[in-house]
Amino acid sequence: MNGLPMKVPAPGLPARVRIHEVGARDGLQNEKTAVPTAVKAEFVHRLAAAGLTTIEATSFVHPKWVPQLADAEALFPLLADVDAALPVLVPNERGLDRALALGATRIAVFGSATETFASRNLNRTVAESLAMFEPVVARARQDGAHVRGYLSMCFGDPWEGPVPLPQVVSVAKSLLDLGCDELSLGDTIGVATPGHVQALLEGLNDAGVATDRIGVHFHDTYGQALSNTLAALRHGVSTVDASAGGLGGCPYAKSATGNLATEDLVWMLDGLGIETGVDLAALTATSVWMAEQLGRPSPSRTVRALSHKE
Ligand code: MG
Repeated sequence: MNGLPMKVPAPGLPARVRIHEVGARDGLQNEKTAVPTAVKAEFVHRLAAAGLTTIEATSFVHPKWVPQLADAEALFPLLADVDAALPVLVPNERGLDRALALGATRIAVFGSATETFASRNLNRTVAESLAMFEPVVARARQDGAHVRGYLSMCFGDPWEGPVPLPQVVSVAKSLLDLGCDELSLGDTIGVATPGHVQALLEGLNDAGVATDRIGVHFHDTYGQALSNTLAALRHGVSTVDASAGGLGGCPYAKSATGNLATEDLVWMLDGLGIETGVDLAALTATSVWMAEQLGRPSPSRTVRALSHKE
């Protein structure tokens, strides 16, 4: 056992996948243990050294709402020498101002496919939240920034249950119409299954959304994240969100533990012979180190398997 899977390619899959690493933002914002700014900076540097090329660094949300990321202004300048794209989440124009002032060139907004989650997470209706994003996206693009639109609750909502596909397609289209360069479809509570994934992707294609503008963001709450990822890859998706070591979940969503762990994803992609540029051993060592900082083991199966000592 050399710590890598045997490479056996399968037909009909992309040759290369871009992993959008969310551990430092989506992961840490849902971790209770306060992480010092210097540790976060080292984390991002280590993720880049492990070969990740897109590393979501932090969020310029009001510090009151996400205390873990209240140090965005202090952290971002410490990442100036990181050789990777460093998107940051911005909730509104104030957040955008803060991010642009520090030289951020990639931003992300965080929308909801359902009214209940929009109300609870954004304190707005879906339409009001889109109206709030409109000037954010427009100004970011004027500034030359790349804009990602997250769409949460694409497959199920803890309060509303299953989410109708046309509703998801409609909000997704609206985010793209605002000027978002790419979409990230979030299974925030981890309830999706592969046929559902395929149906949503087909629905988006039918509505005129090209697959190359779509990324997927799966949670492993019900153990479906990799199955769903494979369904998306077979459909031609080549941008996949994952969180190093499986950090984080969603504080507002019932049983929303379990971002897909980047190591679990890389194990599968390596086995399929799909290029990611990620060094699995270096990434695993980073997640073991981060788990020590947090004082608990990584929930990633691959991290546990590769770091297990007899
Ligand atoms: Mg997530």
